[in-house]
Amino acid sequence: MNKIEHIGIAVKNLEKANAVYAALLGKKHYKIETVEGEGVNTSFFKVGESKIELLEATNPDSPIAKFIEKRGEGIHHIAFYVNDIEKEIKRLKSEGFIVLNETPKKGADNKLVCFLHPKSSNGVLVELCQENTNI
Ligand code: ZN
Repeated sequence: MNKIEHIGIAVKNLEKANAVYAALLGKKHYKIETVEGEGVNTSFFKVGESKIELLEATNPDSPIAKFIEKRGEGIHHIAFYVNDIEKEIKRLKSEGFIVLNETPKKGADNKLVCFLHPKSSNGVLVELCQENTNI
């Protein structure tokens, strides 16, 4: 893994959170994107080499809605950038990590993504992401 690609933050209201993070970081988000399959609206801010991804649920069954219901707003996941996601999935499985989707899926911001269960990484939901070159 080469760097922290982004940190995902669950928010109740994307518009309000965008204003908060614009004030915090001193710049506007550069992208807003809906990932229908995940039930989320996302927005992205650049912070040096890394990004902040704000996540708002699009419906009550969204994983983000459930997360906020249980734990409130806050850090939802940490995403690491990898060059070869398939290889990393194999490696992490052999290390005993619980891989939530063994086939990488299309995530926001033009990425192929895979998640690891928080149970196997000390309570932190881990995302692996790789540039999606097939788009
Ligand atoms: Zn993410």
